[in-house]
Amino acid sequence: MPEGGTPNKMNTCSHCQKQSEKELTMSMDDGQHYCRECAISFGMHTCNSCGKLTKKELIRTSQIYSGCDYCEVCVTESNTRRSLETIPQVYKQCTLENFMRNPGNELAISRAAELIKRTNHFYLFGPPGVGKTHLAVGILKKMVVVGKIARFKFVGIQDLLTDCRRASKGLDDENADDLIDKAIQFPGYLLLDDIGTEKVTDFVQEKLYRLVDGRYSSQTGMIITSNLNLAELSRRLGERIASRVGSGLVAEITGDDFRLKHHYESEPSIKTSEVEEPDYTAKTVN
Ligand SMILES: [Zn+2]
Ligand SMILES: [Zn+2]
Repeated sequence: MPEGGTPNKMNTCSHCQKQSEKELTMSMDDGQHYCRECAISFGMHTCNSCGKLTKKELIRTSQIYSGCDYCEVCVTESNTRRSLETIPQVYKQCTLENFMRNPGNELAISRAAELIKRTNHFYLFGPPGVGKTHLAVGILKKMVVVGKIARFKFVGIQDLLTDCRRASKGLDDENADDLIDKAIQFPGYLLLDDIGTEKVTDFVQEKLYRLVDGRYSSQTGMIITSNLNLAELSRRLGERIASRVGSGLVAEITGDDFRLKHHYESEPSIKTSEVEEPDYTAKTVN
């Protein structure tokens, strides 16, 4: 939208007012269009993705095309898109806003909002089908929207363990510990979905402990969902994992299995109990 009337397809620079047939470039800082000379004299940079001008520092990253400079908006969009891509189809549409809407779950949604502000580690448990994964996905999407985190990744525990077993049989280039380390080092929040339903073996226990411990030790964000409460988790996967998990924020969600119903009539409640209050101030990197 060039400023000023442009009868003969002439574009007017918002600063120097010179008219030109050349396309002017929009600044994302003020929405005005500037000529090349003015943009250079203002020290503006051009984003390599959207092509807009900005006086703000660009971010050098290889995540969009190559090692180029991009504006914050494009980097955020790219982060968001890549995060959303990790969500399985069945949960793609889940948000906090469409989480089991009924008058009885205002509390659950407001608790989730609280979680967004204050915690790095969150264990969400309850019976199958009450919406744990939906809530977790919704929280993560919201965290991205409010700018608390840049990226997240959905990791189904079953899938991860399957990959680890394959890797340990030499079917992949990477070994199982490489896969776990990659998850530990992921620069964003992890959603570890559905821990505790796998067949327990030494291998499973060791890999899961390595993962959970690694994330806790580095204070990198993580939401874990499970059908098991902490005592059950401890019996199943061992005390070490349960105590790690229990050192973050723990919440139970209850309610009828709404996956089996055509409409929501349950009134899920969410209870939070903080076993210990670790340092939540450590920020998720990148
Ligand atoms: Zn100009
Ligand atoms: Zn851009």
